[in-house]
Amino acid sequence: MVKPIQQFLQHMPKRHQVIIASVSILLLLLLVWPSEKASASRDMAQFEQLEPGVRYELALQLGTSFAPIDSDMEYTWVDYEIRSGDNMARIFQRLGFSARQLHDLTQAEDASILRRIHPGDTLRFAKDANNDLMALHYRLSETDTLIIEKTENGTYQSNREAKPTDIRIAFAHAEITSNFWNAGVQAGLSQGQIMSLAELFGWDVDFALDIRRGDQFSVLYEERYIDGQYVGTGQIVAAEFVNQGEVFRAILHENGSYYTDTGRSMRKTFLRAPVAFNRVSSEFNPRRLHPVTGRVAPHRGIDYAAPTGTPVMSSGDGRVIASAYDNLNGHYIFVQHGERYVTKYLHLSRRQANVGDRVRQGQVIGRVGATGRVTGAHLHYEFLVDGVHRNPRTVNLPKAESLPVAEMPVFEAIAAEQLAMIEGRKRFYLAMVD
Ligand SMILES: [Zn+2]
Repeated sequence: MVKPIQQFLQHMPKRHQVIIASVSILLLLLLVWPSEKASASRDMAQFEQLEPGVRYELALQLGTSFAPIDSDMEYTWVDYEIRSGDNMARIFQRLGFSARQLHDLTQAEDASILRRIHPGDTLRFAKDANNDLMALHYRLSETDTLIIEKTENGTYQSNREAKPTDIRIAFAHAEITSNFWNAGVQAGLSQGQIMSLAELFGWDVDFALDIRRGDQFSVLYEERYIDGQYVGTGQIVAAEFVNQGEVFRAILHENGSYYTDTGRSMRKTFLRAPVAFNRVSSEFNPRRLHPVTGRVAPHRGIDYAAPTGTPVMSSGDGRVIASAYDNLNGHYIFVQHGERYVTKYLHLSRRQANVGDRVRQGQVIGRVGATGRVTGAHLHYEFLVDGVHRNPRTVNLPKAESLPVAEMPVFEAIAAEQLAMIEGRKRFYLAMVD
């Protein structure tokens, strides 16, 4: 069985400690110096009933309001869910605000955003005892809120509040027993993360055909939190992949790109496989029969069995030197890469590049099909070096670029830290499950 995920959250974010401390001080102030305002006293009564050690939701608009908190408490907040066909005039009418108030509100700098409100979104209105509109909050995204508030001189002023995102580092590890996709799912990775991991190592490993039982991976990745709430995963910060005993490592540098532990770019001239691994039907047995002859004799290319219509990518940057059809190869495309390399893609159901086109690595140039002399849908892929057929999964490809020497000390420090974290968590994980 694939081992389950092990996630460990790193240190508690500082920001939370700060918020907790601020709230404590605030409560203390309210208790020590009670305001003469009745509303504050009412709230104090609530505070006296609080039990120690219990977490309470605070009614205070902490961090979401620029108004002083004691005046904020006198407002009545109304949440309004925007319906299809709503506009601000209609909403104001429905909530009992005047056209005059809407006019004044729309003088605020960012108020034009309110012309593009979306059904399903929520507007929060704050009004005082005279039904005067004191504030309007519109949540623009997970992190951003538009806040329009009445100032002392009676005009409205807008602010955009961006909530900070806390990043925590999570860890996942798995050993592959059935296939890479299942291992990723059982390690708790999302579909997007599984694809990202395959892309990250896709210049070194053919995820469609070269994965074997016993292969392993370890991943450090970001988890994003807003106000203590998990909102999704972020980037992979470091990963290790062991494929048939060979270890590959990728580390995110501060320039946003990934490098091996020795500082070479993960990105190379050629992808190992021209189709996404999750579309290819394969098994661990490498003795595949040729789809026509039924022999295991090696032929000059590699066959990827995949459904008709599966996208076929150019494995490197290059120029299309053939895009045609014949009875043997079906629809086919040849791409020239620099002086020495040519890649060939046969039996396509569709060609999406013409002779003379410049294509980029990963660009879709056609679709898997069953045209030509074949019995089932598959991509036949050939890789030629100086006109000689080579195995694209094992051929030595041009070395990837290294980081500039000047950047190496910074990178080495990052790499050492991330790899130590992977090692530490992996050891802890293995100790837990063994
Ligand atoms: Zn073939």
